[in-house]
Amino acid sequence: MIDSHCHLADEAFAEDLDAVIARARESGVRDAICILAAGDAAEHARAARVRALWPGVRVATGIHPHTAAEHAGRIPDATGLVGARLDAFGACAIGEIGLDYHYDFAPRPVQHEIFAAQVRLAVERGLPVIIHTREATDDTFAILREAGAGRVRGVFHCFTGDAAMARRALDIGFYVSFAGIVTFPKAGELREAARLVPEDRLLIETDCPYLAPVPHRGKRNEPSYVGRVLDLLAAERQADRAALEGAIDANLTALFGPNDARRTA
Ligand SMILES: [Zn+2]
Repeated sequence: MIDSHCHLADEAFAEDLDAVIARARESGVRDAICILAAGDAAEHARAARVRALWPGVRVATGIHPHTAAEHAGRIPDATGLVGARLDAFGACAIGEIGLDYHYDFAPRPVQHEIFAAQVRLAVERGLPVIIHTREATDDTFAILREAGAGRVRGVFHCFTGDAAMARRALDIGFYVSFAGIVTFPKAGELREAARLVPEDRLLIETDCPYLAPVPHRGKRNEPSYVGRVLDLLAAERQADRAALEGAIDANLTALFGPNDARRTA
């Protein structure tokens, strides 16, 4: 299993990171993508420890819509920062990036310009994007269409949409990643979406430390729980769990490329 989206360098893991990583590996999580905020130096310092304790872990970095306002009116500086962090980390993707109209921490026009600039950077670099979108579906697809110019690839992370939105994501060639929310009792529409995504476009993640799956709901989430998401998907889709796991691992390689660090570690 692979946790395609976790925040292991979050301060929530600072106290017991070694135990968290040990539990992940014991539970069969053999790889993870650690998401880092491009402008967060404290998080970058903690990420060095993540990589020391778990040598194969890969990184994605970008400017989250929540912090877009810090870069308002300075797009070249913002893309320069992301580009420098991509190089420094040897990142496999730009993310998480997108739009968040639920919190609206940055004015929407600012969110748009920062998101679009990073989509263009992804196209330039040939890197996939990891999309965060909340209550902003139409604008998210519009920016992916305009700035992505038919060449951007990526994943809708921690997908919380319905079947119609999943179809839109699939129509533009994107992957759909399910997290712990899909295990929540009231997430019927989301489980419907989880049944319709073709096996070759599915990913799984924890988005830890947030949103732990049932039966850990309400507690700190961690990569060792990603198997609960796989369990749920296998049950909903009436699929063989091991076969589904293999398919999802292959999807991760197809989107983010092979993990050279892990192969040589
Ligand atoms: Zn995240």
